[in-house]
Amino acid sequence: MERCCDAEPCEDDARASRGNAASCPGCGAVGRPVANATLEAILPREAALGLLVIERRFCGSRDCDILYYGADGRSVHKRQALVRVGAKEAEDPIPVCYCFGFTRDQIRAEILATGGSSILQRVKEAIRAGECRCERANPSGGCCLGELSAVAKGARALLGAETGGACSGDAGRKSCRGR
Ligand SMILES: [Zn+2]
Repeated sequence: MERCCDAEPCEDDARASRGNAASCPGCGAVGRPVANATLEAILPREAALGLLVIERRFCGSRDCDILYYGADGRSVHKRQALVRVGAKEAEDPIPVCYCFGFTRDQIRAEILATGGSSILQRVKEAIRAGECRCERANPSGGCCLGELSAVAKGARALLGAETGGACSGDAGRKSCRGR
């Protein structure tokens, strides 16, 4: 059973695993380790195969075109992905939540129009219900809640109605800690 979002410390694991970890040959950043399940879901079979048996990581740098890279120097370009990778795009539509298909512009538009985010609430409820499948849907293999909360927070700041609501709740608090 995948309880991706409450079973792992979201984006903290990338920071924690630094040290001897391989860095991206494109940008030098140390990416987040990804599972076979992520590679098999996000990439065509022939692109995934070469990375399945080595240490490989997801590069989340927006300006870097390398999506995954291996410790042995192999890499996969973002255009090889079967989905649009929001972390690598600067223009809408930018996917944020891959399990339910929400994009940055949808989240912003709702908050600017209503002041609230039913999308954020819906995703939090789905996480609590164990319905998310980030490991297979999100190219990073990680939980989208941190990014979703950041987009919502940015939109609320635009509204001038920053309330900190994006970081309330058990799941949100975990993602937002330390920011
Ligand atoms: Zn990179």
